Formats: sequence, C-alpha cells, structure tokens
Amino acid sequence: MKRPIFALSLLLTSTLTYAQALNVLIYHHVDDNTPHSTSTKVDDFIAQLDAFEEQGYEIVDLESTLKQIQSGEKVEGKKLALTFDDGFRSVCDTAYPILKQRQLPFTVFVTTDPIDANFQGYCSWDQLRDMSQHGATIANHTLDHAFLVRESLQTEEWFERATSNIEMAQQRIEEEIGTAPMLFAYPYGEYNYPLRDWLKEQGYVAFGQQSGSVEFNSDWQALPRFNAAGYYASVESLRFKINARALPTNFTLLPDPVVAESLPALRVELEPSTEAHYPHLQCYFNGQTVDVDWHDKTSFTVLPPKELVNGRHRINCTAPHRNGSPFYWLSQQWLVVNP
Ligand SMILES: [Zn+2]
Repeated sequence: MKRPIFALSLLLTSTLTYAQALNVLIYHHVDDNTPHSTSTKVDDFIAQLDAFEEQGYEIVDLESTLKQIQSGEKVEGKKLALTFDDGFRSVCDTAYPILKQRQLPFTVFVTTDPIDANFQGYCSWDQLRDMSQHGATIANHTLDHAFLVRESLQTEEWFERATSNIEMAQQRIEEEIGTAPMLFAYPYGEYNYPLRDWLKEQGYVAFGQQSGSVEFNSDWQALPRFNAAGYYASVESLRFKINARALPTNFTLLPDPVVAESLPALRVELEPSTEAHYPHLQCYFNGQTVDVDWHDKTSFTVLPPKELVNGRHRINCTAPHRNGSPFYWLSQQWLVVNP
C-alpha cells in the first residue's frame, strides 16, 4: 500500500515546489571598521539596497513569508529577506536608520547574554524594542553564542545544555520585547540531527549559514542564507545569488553535518527536472572545484579532496537552468569532530 502514496506525494511535491522561492541574506556588522569577513561597509549596504530595488526585488517580512512558502501558498514576484546575526551595535546604530527610512522589514537574531550585560559592541534592549516597533523582528540566536553540537558525539549532556540554552534565550526575548517568534539561527550555522529534530518538535523554523534558496522542499530546521558581507558584499557577487533557486531534492534527507570521520561522503538524490540542467552541475569543496561522482542521471556523491581537519567545511553544488540562469543550489556543511 505504501508505494502509491509515496508516488502521489512525490507528484504533489514536484508540482507545488519550484514555483516559489525566498532568498535570505545574512549580515553581521554594517560598519566600515569591524572585521572584514563579517562586515558590510555602509556604502556597500546602501548600494545593495539600491540594487535590490532596481532589480525588482521586494524586501519582505521573514516570518510571514516563510509561513506562506511552508504551507504551499503562492508567493508572487521576487522576494528577499534581510537577517542580522548576533545583535551587534552597528545594526541598531547604522543599519536600522537606513532600513527605517526605506520602511524595510528585517530580522535580528540576538544573543541575549551580552545584551543583558550591556556589552558595548551590542544593541541594548531599549534599541531592540524600538526597532521591533518599526519593522524589525527580534529572534533567537542562543544566550551566549555557544558551539551547540561540537561535543555531541562525546557526551550526552550536550543535548540538555543546547536545548535549555535556546529555551532561556527565547524567554529573555519574550520578556524584553513582549513577543518572541519561533525563529532560530544556529551559532556558526552548526547543527546536528537531534537538535534539528527537537527544534521541529518545538515548532521552530531554524537557519544555518550554508548557501541556497528557501523553497517548499527545504529543510525547515536548516534553512540556507547567502552571506552579504566581506568578499560577498559586492552588488555583482550578490546579483546571481539573490536570483538563485533550490536544487530539486528533499533537503531533509541530506546527511547529519556532524561527523567523526575525515572523509565524509555527501550523497544526493535529485528529482528529475525539466528546468535545472544536471549535466552542468558543479561542486565546490571549501571553494575549490571537486569531482562529482554520478551514479545515474539524478544521483551523485561528492567526497572531500583530502582528509578533513577538525572544524567546519562547506560543499556548494550548483546547476544552471537549461537557459543558463538562474542557478540551482545545494549546500552542505560538515563539522568534523574527531576526538
Ligand atoms: Zn552569530
């Protein structure tokens, strides 16, 4: 009896899925004097916002647009959402006035401990409250920006620590802002299956830091975002990313990113597509082109080019549309934690 139901759900997914996408950008500092890799210079930020408008993008409210896409509702036009991680001071002092003047919505994923401690480099609760009344959503990025899952293969206590960290930050946001959406961003984009599954049970939607587009077939507790800082801040570099789509695959079936082995294999099963041109699919491992081992026309494996050291590694795979554009993306993070 199982087979026809499976076939039907595949069919439904295929027809619903690929007509609607939301691309989400991730920022940290909007500042000329903070570290390059996590900063977007003020002029670049303004140039980006101008370019998005010129290119016909609407900057939308993250939470409500996610709900629309997740429920399969039709989302018309080209949509972008802006997110800022950590709650750094420049977001309140510099980015906010620019966004407020343009009446653009945005989301700030805050780490609550440094705000509670009135750390200089961070927004204050007063500022965040003010922003929340003028288009900002204040959401959860843990109490203290912990590495949530690095010890998950060595000790069982990590789960209790990680989940209570998230619950307590959620409570602080609710106390200070009056409301806390069920949105979460993993510090450093690091997650594993047990934490992802717990967030799903609790009703959270969660973001990583891997690249890609949010669509119906996304993993809703591991949503991708495109980095708009450092080397990726230029309008030219963002142009084809904000236009990106998700590769047709079930993203919830990608492997758990936390591995103890130094040569983890990423196997991907794509759905047949009349749009994405799979023969031109390319994969990049930590930015360098790697071989794609095709098993048939729609499934392939990517291996690291050499043994991986402990820490984070990133695989990006992209395939062009048959007409050349847009590009379809899939991104997977490995977090190698050899004891
Ligand atoms: Zn962060």
